[in-house]
Amino acid sequence: MLYRLSYKGGRVLQTNDLIIPELPATENGKTSRIFKENFFTDGNLNLVYAAKDVEFNTISYHIQAAVDIDMDTSDSYVAFMPVIFLACCIPILAISWIIAWRTTARMLKPVKLITKQAQEIGSEHLDKRLDDNGADDELKVLAHTFNELFARLEKDFEHEKRFTSDVSHELKTPIAVISGHVDLLMRWGKDDPAVLEESLQVLKRETKSMANLTEQLLELNKAQNAAKTPCEKKPLNLEDFLRSIQDDFRIIEPEAKIKIENISPKEIMTDAESLKEILRIIIKNGILYNDKETPEIVINFENGVLSVSDNGIGIPEEDLPHIFDSFYRVDKSRNRGKGGTGIGLAIAKSVAEKIGAVITAESEAGTGTVMNIKL
Ligand code: ATP
Ligand code: MG
Repeated sequence: MLYRLSYKGGRVLQTNDLIIPELPATENGKTSRIFKENFFTDGNLNLVYAAKDVEFNTISYHIQAAVDIDMDTSDSYVAFMPVIFLACCIPILAISWIIAWRTTARMLKPVKLITKQAQEIGSEHLDKRLDDNGADDELKVLAHTFNELFARLEKDFEHEKRFTSDVSHELKTPIAVISGHVDLLMRWGKDDPAVLEESLQVLKRETKSMANLTEQLLELNKAQNAAKTPCEKKPLNLEDFLRSIQDDFRIIEPEAKIKIENISPKEIMTDAESLKEILRIIIKNGILYNDKETPEIVINFENGVLSVSDNGIGIPEEDLPHIFDSFYRVDKSRNRGKGGTGIGLAIAKSVAEKIGAVITAESEAGTGTVMNIKL
């Protein structure tokens, strides 16, 4: 810091640098810069200073304080700035680029992995799943969602595969029987009235069974398609409705006894046609799979559950989870005789879905079966 006290425009009273000249007063004591090139023999005058004129006992004094910011150093700094700037910026830019590149690569790694794994999952490898064990982030949610989708696809795909093979299997037997009898007739059967009669009976029975199967399949397809669109529900007097079903069965199955017990409430909201279809399938089963002289069906409606009990042969525990699958029959040989194709309950399940109902079965082999329709 250079200071200087002098009479205004005159003799220096105090200073620590005799070469510094008197500088013009600065405004309100603020600092100012002064620059004079080659002011000294060895350099420029380059100061930041504050200067003030003061009156004391009618004498004018001049006070100033200054800091030397010699052009030699300050300007060389300014001149050197672009070099400093470049020297700092290039490494900063390089470091930023490396960090950004590594971060992006790290973030994209799981995406690339998911893409690769998803590409490997085709119709042949639907059992494979994406790795969703990583950190709890959006990618984990995405992988999890994809896995759920693949699981659904796998289930549907398996179902379709099994269904096609079941249909072929179901058709194979009647076709083999028909073909065998046609061969028999062509060779020598047509000349033997007894063989001819027997073969014609078999052909009639098998074609009827195939026609029945085709009809059931169409119905199942219709029910499965309809299940996707919810139906319109209307008020229905359940008791009257059940009485009309009871009347129908009195004509179709005169030997069976259908009892309507407790119905509460009597009025419900549902689609009558769909409910009738479900009940017909269930009641028919209760009568068909029954070894009693008088098959008995009891219907109740309590707590929103419509239950249909029978006194039939019952369903073994290990078969219960499968009876709603298409083509599933507890005793295949027995049911072929009775003409069952194993599609009835699959249709009932799809129709129930349409009216927002769920069917479950309880049974004890030898005692009977209870079908619960939760409306
Ligand atoms: P259909 O398509 O002609 O109805 P199905 O009766 O064999 O053929 P489902 O009605 O789906 O087919 O029944 C599947 C199987 O479940 C039956 O084959 C039978 O073994 C068993 N089952 C169903 N209901 C009963 C019942 N009330 N009592 C005993 N077994 C039953
Ligand atoms: Mg049936």
